[in-house]
Amino acid sequence: MAWNVVIAGGGFGGAAAARELERLLPKQSARLSLVNETNFSLYTPFLPEAASGTLEPRHVVTPLREQLTRTYLRLGRIVAHDPAAKTLQLRKKFGGTEELRYDQLLLALGSVSRTLPVPGLAEHAVGFKDLADAIYLRNHVVETLEEANATEDPVRREKLLTYVFVGGGYAGLEALAELQDFAADAMDSYPRARLHGMRWVLVEAAGRVLPEIDEQLADYALRELRGRGIDIRLNTTLEEVTADSARISTGELLPTETVVWTAGVAPQPVLRELNLPLDERGRVPVDEFLRVEGMDSVWAIGDCAAAPDPRGGTCPPTAQHAVRQGPVAARNIAAELGVGSPAPFTFKAYASFVNLGRHKAVGRIGERTFRGFPAWWLARSYHMSQIPGTARKVRAVLDWTAGLPFRRDVSEVGSIGHPKRLG
Ligand SMILES: Cc1cc2nc3c(=O)[nH]c(=O)nc-3n(C[C@H](O)[C@H](O)[C@H](O)COP(=O)(O)OP(=O)(O)OC[C@H]3O[C@@H](n4cnc5c(N)ncnc54)[C@H](O)[C@@H]3O)c2cc1C
Repeated sequence: MAWNVVIAGGGFGGAAAARELERLLPKQSARLSLVNETNFSLYTPFLPEAASGTLEPRHVVTPLREQLTRTYLRLGRIVAHDPAAKTLQLRKKFGGTEELRYDQLLLALGSVSRTLPVPGLAEHAVGFKDLADAIYLRNHVVETLEEANATEDPVRREKLLTYVFVGGGYAGLEALAELQDFAADAMDSYPRARLHGMRWVLVEAAGRVLPEIDEQLADYALRELRGRGIDIRLNTTLEEVTADSARISTGELLPTETVVWTAGVAPQPVLRELNLPLDERGRVPVDEFLRVEGMDSVWAIGDCAAAPDPRGGTCPPTAQHAVRQGPVAARNIAAELGVGSPAPFTFKAYASFVNLGRHKAVGRIGERTFRGFPAWWLARSYHMSQIPGTARKVRAVLDWTAGLPFRRDVSEVGSIGHPKRLG
């Protein structure tokens, strides 16, 4: 009899686990299934570059069918779980539901943008978490430039050319830096908008940006971005958003039609429906072997798990951790099925980089810190080594190379995927 191993989520953690399970478990002994919302995994560190058009959006994702050879890919969402019967309910992408039976289950469902009850936030702000957000933002920025160049109304032009980002973690800062860089270059094609000038504002509730890296490097990033004219407001919160303004805690009303919310992540809300233990932040608590507390055949990794960090506390929600937890969970699942022996998760993060656009970054490897061009080069080399699939590596290099001699592409392609109705 073949064991049923089901992996829920095909991002960094889930795909890494599936690759390792394919290697460890003999074909005849296990049937591997992976459920994901899309047929690709997204390489999020390149999302800001997809938003700025430096990389083609399709080149920051890798098809799961390219990464996996014998795992049965199911497209859809897991919506329910019965631990006693060991079944999951799959809502299939193209309609209908199906029950999936498992002997071993690995949860790798990732996270969503963490929102706060700020009036107007849900209606008027956008997140920066997936490919759709990146493509939308790029097209939106181009639209604002087009409209600002065309309008005769200076008040409207001010609203169009003011961009507000909320949250100064690495995702927010990288997105802001890349998009501002893109807009500054694209401005050459919009003389009237250029005459007016743009305003980019970062609002951060804490007294510093980039809590993920040490303070000296964060200060360098702050100076670098302020030097480009980005208005960074520390110890400031967003109080209200409307269709054409953002009110911040200093009492100022910023005229804007663009508010990007990048203030952290929260675990997938569906976890609450899955009959699992959850910690106070809504994550699934696991032990050092990544097994869900109190459940013998359920495992969890990545952003959706609260896994003990060998440095103390729980692991932060980073791809670095998810991609290393995947193979550990795979090994432990295989051991549970009689192949090999279990091992605890022992990885200690020793490097982190934040891309600041314009060939600059800040980062750390072990005790050594880097800034400026060397940091950017190291970060890019690291990501190139990590993005799955040779085809994606080559395509990314070609995109960067082709971008060097040419001006920024300002075509607004928001209509992609939305065909006109006939007649
Ligand atoms: C803009 C940005 C930049 C980042 N840059 C970095 C960086 O430079 N370095 C770094 O270490 N980390 C970075 N991160 C964080 C990193 O992306 C996450 O920590 C990582 O994706 C977590 O991996 P995961 O496997 O837990 O989840 P994910 O990679 O998010 O995968 C979860 C998968 O589960 C699927 N899914 C969700 N719900 C369901 C469901 N109900 N049923 C089935 N499937 C479901 C999703 O479609 C997704 O494919 C960045 C994040 C963002 C947003």
